[in-house]
Amino acid sequence: MFVSEALNINEKNHLTIGGCDAVELAKEYGTPLYVLDETAVRRHCRTYKESIDKFYGGRGLVFYASKALCNLEVIRIVNSEGLGADVVSDGELYTALKAGMPAEKLCMHGNNKTYDELVYAVGSGVGRIVVDNKTELDTIDAICREKGKKQKVLFRVKPGIDAHTHSFIMTGQIDSKFGFALETGEAHDIIRHALTLDNIIVGGVHCHIGSQIHELEPFKKAAEVLAGLIADIKNETGYEMAEMNLGGGYGVMYTEEDDPIEFDKYIEAVSLVLRSACEERGISLPFVMMEPGRSIVGTAGVTLYTVGGIKDIPNIRRYVSVDGGMCDNPRYILYQSKYKALLANKSGDIATEPVTVAGKCCESGDLIGEGMPLPPVELGDTLAVLTTGAYNYSMASNYNRIPRPAMVMTKDGTSRVIVRRESYEDLVRNDI
Ligand SMILES: *Cc1c(COP(=O)(O)O)cnc(C)c1O
Repeated sequence: MFVSEALNINEKNHLTIGGCDAVELAKEYGTPLYVLDETAVRRHCRTYKESIDKFYGGRGLVFYASKALCNLEVIRIVNSEGLGADVVSDGELYTALKAGMPAEKLCMHGNNKTYDELVYAVGSGVGRIVVDNKTELDTIDAICREKGKKQKVLFRVKPGIDAHTHSFIMTGQIDSKFGFALETGEAHDIIRHALTLDNIIVGGVHCHIGSQIHELEPFKKAAEVLAGLIADIKNETGYEMAEMNLGGGYGVMYTEEDDPIEFDKYIEAVSLVLRSACEERGISLPFVMMEPGRSIVGTAGVTLYTVGGIKDIPNIRRYVSVDGGMCDNPRYILYQSKYKALLANKSGDIATEPVTVAGKCCESGDLIGEGMPLPPVELGDTLAVLTTGAYNYSMASNYNRIPRPAMVMTKDGTSRVIVRRESYEDLVRNDI
């Protein structure tokens, strides 16, 4: 039901998440509260893993894009499901290693990795670094020389595809801070240069065309374009790159307006395109990697709030204020992202009125959403906002000196804290 199989309604007309009564969770752990269902996260990991086995004969690896939600328990779960992780900073790298993720199953990203981050990544033995510019590549080579190591790298390519939620367009020249352009020859040049470096193992190519994509076409196109690049380099140099990382970006359901593709359908469709592109160009099917973030944790998460204020502005709107806001979910103020909300303590009731759900931060733009259909709201109701597993906690802040909420993980009717609620002491920890 709703956006995720983790959600249901019980006999009390309460929302359940992973078999736990959301109203009871709010009482036991307090609000605001992030809730994440373990079963749903594991199911999503398995769908990806099984698809690689099925459509690529197991010759591939799924990396969880940890920027979507990065904490020790989530990384442990993803690791136990056989996925690797992609990390974009020293902090994510530290978290993944600390959670026990083997370094060779990590992929390091970033358009401005610092010298220290590169030393940390090479020193820890991360399996792959995705190179974004020439200075970085030369720095990795130098660090390796000093340490007596070799580092496998992939090259982040701009495949010339703009993937939008509802359409995609081919562009001659894409404007992005990430990666090497194809059409200018930049991508070819950097790979040729890498082949001359002693301490660099040229693994292959990478692209990530966007996020929350609901169409197959851009993914197919990207796979074709990367296969073409592998073939070009092979023809020019004789070196055939063995790896292709197709990034993440698979869309999930936030509201009824979203119509996501099932991940395994996507993987099957892309595998067919890739197989025929490789055959046509005379290259072998590469080892395939993907980096789903949102689609692993997004719909597995719900945020619970308590309604603390209702304000009617006649003929304009009704504001329903909750005890969190942009500090725990900045996606509305950043992108006007749409969410589905319901009242967890009367979750089967018919939605009668569109309301504006406002946070408690000192910004007029601090909203969870506008025009959100809800049943008649009363003070003390538990408001549940769905699909908040990805890019909510990971983008949360202490704006207004509001402590970050706890995160609770549910599983088959049981719950446990996986991230503690921040204390006042946490807020002043680094103040001197
Ligand atoms: C953000 C990102 C991802 C994950 O994207 P989702 O939309 O969450 O699947 C994967 N790879 C790279 C390089 C990214 O920047």
